[in-house]
Order: sequence, then C-alpha cells, then structure tokens
Amino acid sequence: MELKQLPHNHNENTNTEFIRKQIEKVDNFQIIADTFKQLGDTTRIRIFWLLCHCEECVINISAMLNMSSPAVSHHLRPLKNSGLITSRRNGKEVYYRAADNEQSRLLHLMIEQVMEISCPEE
Ligand SMILES: [Zn+2]
Repeated sequence: MELKQLPHNHNENTNTEFIRKQIEKVDNFQIIADTFKQLGDTTRIRIFWLLCHCEECVINISAMLNMSSPAVSHHLRPLKNSGLITSRRNGKEVYYRAADNEQSRLLHLMIEQVMEISCPEE
C-alpha cells in the first residue's frame, strides 16, 4: 500500500517509510501494551521481580509481601496468562517462577536498571 504524503515535508530520512509501515501494525504494539499492563501495578512488579530470583509457592510469596494468599493468587493469574511467569506442581504444592523467555529477561533487566539496583544473582 502506498503511503500517504504527510502534510508537511521536512526532508524525511530513509527510515521514514519503514517507521510508518511499522506504526500501522497496531496488533504488534498491542502485545507491548498488554505486557506493560501486567506491570502497571506495584504488587505485580514486586511479585514478578521476586520470582526472577527464586521459585516460590503462594504461601511464601504471601509471607514475603505481607499479603493474603488469595490476594497474591489474584496477581499471579494475569502474570501467568501473559507468559511472564510459569508454574510447576509438585504434589499439593504449586511453585512459581519467572518464565525463561526474552520478554521476562528484558523486564527483569529494566526493573533493576530503572530502580538502580544490582541483580542479586550477579
Ligand atoms: Zn535480578
């Protein structure tokens, strides 16, 4: 599809066409918006960051965050649905940890860089 002429002509650089084609792919950007929606909540970020460094059950996460287990479960569900964390069942216990994917690694890195803390695993 031919790109429409922009109202103003400011000697566009060679990337302009690529950028304009990408910007039209709303679904791609929706993926990013959905990911950040998961982290648009302090508790969820704390749970996610915690699970980047250890595998834990709901009871222990609740104890560390000083929250009830149902409240923690309420936050774990969307984190799991978004693919940022995974769970593993062992008998009656379910353990959670950050997913082993690029999305999760980048968010882990971003949290620590923005908060200017070093990763306890380094
Ligand atoms: Zn870390």
